[in-house]
Amino acid sequence: MARPERVRRIFFRPDVTYFKPAGIAMAELKETVLSFDELEAIRLVDSEGIEQSRAGEKMKISQPTLSRLLGRARKKLADAIINGQAIKIEGGNFKMASPRGAGPGRRGGRGRMGGFAAGPGGICRCPKCGYEEEQARGEPCRSKRCPKCGTFMTRG
Ligand SMILES: [Zn+2]
Repeated sequence: MARPERVRRIFFRPDVTYFKPAGIAMAELKETVLSFDELEAIRLVDSEGIEQSRAGEKMKISQPTLSRLLGRARKKLADAIINGQAIKIEGGNFKMASPRGAGPGRRGGRGRMGGFAAGPGGICRCPKCGYEEEQARGEPCRSKRCPKCGTFMTRG
């Protein structure tokens, strides 16, 4: 599919982004990487119990897209648990929703969401297709290419 996929809106970013099984040497440990938008699908549908169509609306994607995202996320979690793999949460095609009720009065507040939106790493954005991802620490956006279309990313 040549059409760039839509950026998913998410409302939650966990503080804990790494889960490691006990009793496995680091050298033997395999990682399953779950993206933030996949996690959000799991959170909305499986944790919050929201219907898929409604969850899709919240994430600004269609129900079939949400369903695919959810299926992928569930598969990854299942595989990680079955095979004793670590789970790392990172990346994805997403944009953090603005914190609820964050008017001018709350600017500079230290809410979880606000803290992320302006976060230490920030967000790298592809100027061409709009793909966004979390900026890796110490890695300028301009040195990274968009994984979708190959354009150099910008800070934003
Ligand atoms: Zn791009």
